[in-house]
Amino acid sequence: MNSSNQNTGRREFLQQSVVGAAAAGLAITSTSHVTAQTVPDAAEPEVTNEVDVLVVGGGTAGHVAAIQAGRAGAKTMVMERASCLGGMTTRGGVCFPGLFDAWGKQVIAGIGWELVKECVELDGGTLPNFAKVPQHHWQNQVHINQFLYYILAEEKCQEAGVTICYHEFPQAIKATSTGWEVDCVGFGTRRRVLCRQIVDCTGGAEVAGMLGYPRLQGEERQPGSIQFLLDEANNPGRGTKRGGAGLLHAIYVHGADSTNSRTVTEASLTGRKAVLDQVRKSGQRLMHLQPEPGFRESYRIEGETLITVNDYTSGRVFDDAISYAFYPVDLHTKTGVRPKPLKPGKVPTIPLSALIPKGSRNIIVAGRCVSSDRLANSGLRVQASCMGMGQAAGVAATLAAKSGTTPLEVPLPEIHALLREHGQIVPGKA
Ligand SMILES: Cc1cc2nc3c(=O)[nH]c(=O)nc-3n(C[C@H](O)[C@H](O)[C@H](O)COP(=O)(O)OP(=O)(O)OC[C@H]3O[C@@H](n4cnc5c(N)ncnc54)[C@H](O)[C@@H]3O)c2cc1C
Repeated sequence: MNSSNQNTGRREFLQQSVVGAAAAGLAITSTSHVTAQTVPDAAEPEVTNEVDVLVVGGGTAGHVAAIQAGRAGAKTMVMERASCLGGMTTRGGVCFPGLFDAWGKQVIAGIGWELVKECVELDGGTLPNFAKVPQHHWQNQVHINQFLYYILAEEKCQEAGVTICYHEFPQAIKATSTGWEVDCVGFGTRRRVLCRQIVDCTGGAEVAGMLGYPRLQGEERQPGSIQFLLDEANNPGRGTKRGGAGLLHAIYVHGADSTNSRTVTEASLTGRKAVLDQVRKSGQRLMHLQPEPGFRESYRIEGETLITVNDYTSGRVFDDAISYAFYPVDLHTKTGVRPKPLKPGKVPTIPLSALIPKGSRNIIVAGRCVSSDRLANSGLRVQASCMGMGQAAGVAATLAAKSGTTPLEVPLPEIHALLREHGQIVPGKA
């Protein structure tokens, strides 16, 4: 068949399909229209941008850091190698962030909470009552619609003037007299970013690693999990009929490693094969599958301060505390997990210096890569805490960029004041 015959054949097939659908009384999907803005430099393979703050990784901590920096007046770019914001919260399917409260009151608020609350309200969902101390910690996790969440996060970034760059990542970084020159790649794009400050929110402190700052990793990693649903449609933001924490179905992926494209590919293939096995064994339909497995543990930085499990469980209030954290010590192993709740009244804190790679200037991290030992990290890694760190990192980077210094040298009262101004709860006295 020549190409003109092929086209005629395809047209006829489409027409017949439409007529057939109409004859069968089926609704033909109506289409509304939107137009993407013209990208002025779309034809250029090489672009250069100059910003105050570059946030690398737009995940749980990163999008909050970027919104904060943008709102505080920094020219901000967030670079995310995937196709949406939210990281584990959205792509990983961990769409039940916790814990914003401890012992009957809210301890983490700010931009992360603003987004979570707005997402639940727009979705007609239910917020937990933080005045009530739950029997199990997971009862006060907030169920959010992961899809709605990342669109809202995009809207808030754009309202704050933040430039979002999807499908890109840094390839080479060098220090300059005013900050950093970061060479990045994406498909069809080579981008040079000149920035004053970097906020590394890659989950595994990948930028800190590229710059040669020391990172910590246990000999063993907590397993990852691939999340899916069999025989039940996903009802985002509502949990599932399994009850309990309302999680999607999950299979542990032992050895899951988020270090690079090869290890993530391996974890994805292994997780998906296990899902296929379950489909075959159960005879049930696969109704939902997250695009990638969730990774619980990767690299942590070795920071100016390292949070120990003793600091964590005793609720130590660090002199340079910038946010609270709250969750049981929650280390998943080959055989499962037995969360160890904190003792009544204890609320851990996170110091600014645990976000600073040892000996560094002009870079700060936020998220699960916070400088901590493995057990402390198993509690610190949860989403409300990551969002709190993200906001603090956004503030510290912005103030450092404005005053031409480095985050650790910004006077702490200035960081605290700006955090409070943007709705965050700060440990210690106002
Ligand atoms: C299965 C599972 C269950 C969990 N259960 C809970 C729970 O019940 N409650 C809770 O609150 N938390 C839970 N957690 C923990 C929590 O979800 C994560 O620890 C947290 O979301 C990590 O946030 P982050 O910002 O550090 O990293 P991420 O959310 O992973 O964000 C990192 C982002 O950086 C991007 N990135 C990485 N490298 C680059 C690069 N070089 N360039 C550009 N972008 C890059 C990634 O694509 C990603 O979007 C769970 C985690 C898992 C995996």
